Amino acid sequence: MLTEVHVPEDVPAAVGLIVSGATVLGGGTSLMPALNDYGSPPTELVSLRRTGLSGITVTGSTVTIGATTTLSQIEHDSRLQILNPVVRSIASVPVRNLATVGGNLFVPQPYGDLAVALVALNARAVPAGGSGPAELPLERPALVTAVTFELPAPGVFKYVKAARRRWNSASLVTVAATIVELDGLVSGARVALGGVSDHIVRAAAVEEALLGRPLTEETVAAAARAGLGELSPADDAYASAWYRTRVFPVHLRRALLGR
Ligand SMILES: Cc1cc2nc3c(=O)[nH]c(=O)nc-3n(C[C@H](O)[C@H](O)[C@H](O)COP(=O)(O)OP(=O)(O)OC[C@H]3O[C@@H](n4cnc5c(N)ncnc54)[C@H](O)[C@@H]3O)c2cc1C
Repeated sequence: MLTEVHVPEDVPAAVGLIVSGATVLGGGTSLMPALNDYGSPPTELVSLRRTGLSGITVTGSTVTIGATTTLSQIEHDSRLQILNPVVRSIASVPVRNLATVGGNLFVPQPYGDLAVALVALNARAVPAGGSGPAELPLERPALVTAVTFELPAPGVFKYVKAARRRWNSASLVTVAATIVELDGLVSGARVALGGVSDHIVRAAAVEEALLGRPLTEETVAAAARAGLGELSPADDAYASAWYRTRVFPVHLRRALLGR
């Protein structure tokens, strides 16, 4: 049973509470409903609301987003147009007003659409406690204070999310990618997938099938075939595993070719 919600005034105090066993609370949009489902729910939460971790800075091409920045803040920041389609594909306005960047990194699949985009952008998570920035997705749980990434050149970042309906629908397939072309050939590819496994997939086989080739329908179809082995989707209330596998090539094509 939940007995206490701590609201520390800074990150070291939050870390101390987490070390003592309290569970991190961001916006609570995922954690609070889940409290009812836990076999042994956390008894103490530590809210990050007053720890000063909210805010967006853009210095040159380097973007840093504090962990408690809400998805709505990103949506309304004109410097982050690149993430606008991503956050607008997530949940609905009331949820986005509460949901935080930090929380999105840790929600179970088929959620975590912003995290999928951040993997494609080669973003780093900045953990509390001074250890260096870590590649996403994180291998171990850690209190994240911020995420940081370099803005790509226009047109390099691609994103498509397939969902059952416009609002409050988890991913069937989410495709995020950064594709760099040189002299008509793909010279750089970073592809991340959501909704197709119990974790965010960095689609190495898809990337390999794209590299060095022209970005055509044939190349993308071959990359999708190569990527099928990287999917391990589940049946859930939104779609069957069979359906997710069938629509993956379609949404890879839509993301990479825009059609
Ligand atoms: C109706 C509805 C629809 C939704 N639709 C979508 C969707 O389409 N796409 C999508 O991606 N998500 C969706 N979600 C899930 C969720 O709202 C978002 O993923 C949101 O970004 C989670 O952020 P939060 O701050 O609310 O996380 P919380 O619920 O507060 O926390 C989620 C997890 O992250 C941990 N955590 C939070 N902050 C940190 C931190 N700084 N460091 C370390 N751990 C942390 C918590 O301990 C917890 O395990 C939906 C939720 C609802 C209720």
